[in-house]
Amino acid sequence: MYIDSHCHLFYEDFAADLPEVIARAHDAGVTRFVVPATNHVTAEQALKLAETYPGVYVAVGFHPLDLAEFSDERLAHIAKMASHPNVVAIGEIGIDYFYDTSPREYQREIFARQIVLAAEKDLPVIVHTRDSVQDAVDIVVRHVAENPAWRGGRPRGVFHCFTGDAAQARTLFDNGFLVSFPGPVTFKKATMPEVIRQIGLDNIMVETDAPFLTPVPHRGKRNEPSYIPLIASTIADVLNVPVAEVAAATTRNAERLFGLPQVH
Ligand SMILES: [Zn+2]
Repeated sequence: MYIDSHCHLFYEDFAADLPEVIARAHDAGVTRFVVPATNHVTAEQALKLAETYPGVYVAVGFHPLDLAEFSDERLAHIAKMASHPNVVAIGEIGIDYFYDTSPREYQREIFARQIVLAAEKDLPVIVHTRDSVQDAVDIVVRHVAENPAWRGGRPRGVFHCFTGDAAQARTLFDNGFLVSFPGPVTFKKATMPEVIRQIGLDNIMVETDAPFLTPVPHRGKRNEPSYIPLIASTIADVLNVPVAEVAAATTRNAERLFGLPQVH
């Protein structure tokens, strides 16, 4: 059984056929879904999905590319939503130096404020980076040092679509963070498999980031959670272990991070 640790099922792309998408996921062994919102509006939409479909969990927060939507009032609204029983993380939050849609200093400030919110709510964070891994690592490490009680020994967060190197991953692991890997691990030129070879299964999860980042052989089409086993079998090949081992480890890691009931 798999958990898709990051899929945006609230997007318009799924409006017409979400029940079928979820049924296909179940057929593929993907029975639970973590849906990270991107702002206050998609947070409401994600919560509605969680109330409609069993196995759907939500993260609430402001994505770094959505900071035009950010205000103190809206963050207060996010904080209120964070107490909903289906909310398992603050996310997705982070910094994006690729699109640079708002000043980097401002991105770092709002990222930091949302980490503080997560610590107050005793929730983990889901972190987005693009061309910004080291700055994001520095920020979370600083917050862990300032607030060592955050999560009391449980995982504090995940760097999703991890593109850093093995040394950065190990720094994250030392600070109670995990990393997760999406469809592009299946691409021919991917550099992530070498990192996975070095870091192993203990602190990683799988994710689709649907509807984006579709794995081979469906590249070019909409991504969906039923493709998780394609990512897991690539990781199994890379590590030369049975795919069942990848499924068990990544599910266990997601259960630990998000505080989900253990099904094994
Ligand atoms: Zn995402």
